This record gives sequence, structure tokens and C-alpha cells, in this order.
Amino acid sequence: MRLVRFGEKGKEKPGLLKGKNIVDLTLALPGVPDIGPEFFEGGFFEKAAAVTDAGKPFAGRIANPVTRPEKIICLGKNYLDHAKEGNMSVPEAPLLFCKTANTLNGPFDAVLIPKSSGQTDWEVELALVIGKGGKAISSKDALAHIAGYCVFNDVSARQAQFSDKQWFRGKSFDTFAPMGPCLVSPDEIEDLDNLTLEARVNGELMQQGSTADLLFKIPFLIEFISADITLKPGDIISTGTPAGVGIFRNPPVVLCPGDVVECSISQIGSINNRFV
Ligand code: ZN
Repeated sequence: MRLVRFGEKGKEKPGLLKGKNIVDLTLALPGVPDIGPEFFEGGFFEKAAAVTDAGKPFAGRIANPVTRPEKIICLGKNYLDHAKEGNMSVPEAPLLFCKTANTLNGPFDAVLIPKSSGQTDWEVELALVIGKGGKAISSKDALAHIAGYCVFNDVSARQAQFSDKQWFRGKSFDTFAPMGPCLVSPDEIEDLDNLTLEARVNGELMQQGSTADLLFKIPFLIEFISADITLKPGDIISTGTPAGVGIFRNPPVVLCPGDVVECSISQIGSINNRFV
């Protein structure tokens, strides 16, 4: 199943992506909430999976596939090659940070280059969305708590990130988390540990990595995080980026108005955002 949110900003509806068609879930499942915590808590994920409509062609806007998460938890330095390219130490335990919900952005919407801080950069990442919440989830049970996966660009303002000496501000500017294009349920992913991630800037390949190289794998991450942080339905966890971000290139590359960043992950899809 591929869940989407579609429609104009502020009027998005939940839907199912079927090829090039979309099934409007507000028609197929009367009373369905938007795809956020209530959607998962109310059993609508399972109900949506049982919808058999073929849908209708849709040519409008696709939005971020989930909204109003309680938390967006991100991983720093979770690929060895990325830790090394920045001459950074390799973490001995998962390095967590947060992005705020104002960062959420559609898979094809514009990303705003902040006026107050330079060096806007890209990071292609595999993100997961929690379907069933919990605390102290063991790694062996972890995958059953996941509703699905999507492509996530952890956009970063390096100037703010580095000058602040911690990452909150530089990671949390408006529009800094384009994600999508849809939420892909786990049954559609053949081998979670062998997905190819790529980022292109204006068509030029900048990042290419594989989830095979994640330092801390998803089941362990869920066990580690949920040990003391209750995971809620709709929470987003983004698993970190491989090498090839702009700031550590020689010479460094920063995004300028008009640049287009495409992030893609095999078996999931692509997101494509213009920076303005
Ligand atoms: Zn990141």
C-alpha cells in the first residue's frame, strides 16, 4: 500500500496511490481523519489497506504523506562514510536530534532558503513512520511498529548548525523536511537492508549510498529510542544520510535559489524540490 496526502495546502486529503491513480479515502472510508496520529490510532491504516477501488487519475499537488507528528527524530552520523567525510568521530551509540513539525514539506514543494543563515545543504535519508506506538520496544518486535517508509531530505543550514554548536536551529527552519512521495507499507519493501539512496542537484549525482551501510539498523534504533522515549503513532524517524552532502565536498557546494534537489530511494520513489 502507498498512502498519500493530496490537494492544495491546508486542504489535503488522505488517499491511496495506485499506479498513476489516487483513491480518495474520504470517499472510500467515510469519517477517515487526515494521515496523522488519529489515522493510525483509529485503525484506518488497516481499513485503507482493505480498500479495493482503482482510483482516478490525479494531476494536482501531492503533499507530505503524514502530518502533525508528535516527534520528528533524526539520526546524525549513521553512515560511516558520512561521518568520515566530515572528519567527525564515529558515534558509539545512535546520535539523535530533532526537527520540528514546521519543517514538514511536500515531496514536490519549494524549500525556502533562510534569509538569516547561509550554507543550505541536502541530505537524502530513509525515514520511517510509526504505526503502533510503544515504550521499551525490543528490537525483535520493532518492525511490527512501523507503518511505512518514505524518502526524506534532511535539509540543513550549515552556518546555523555549526555556529550554534548544536543542531536544533539549523535543522528546523520552515520547509526543511520535504518527504514522500508516499508512505510505502513494509510489505512492499523487499529488502530493507539493501535500498539504494541517491541525491541529485540539478541532475548531477551527489550522494549514492545503501541502507546496507547503516551503522545502527532500524530495529536497534527503535529499541534504543523507545527505551525512554514513548513512540507515538505518526512519529517520524529519519535514519541518517550517506556521504556526499554539499558542505564536505571539495570545494563545498551550497544550494542557491533555483537549484533543484532530487532525492530517491529504490522501491520507494523520488522527491524533487526547488530551492527558492
Ligand atoms: Zn540528516
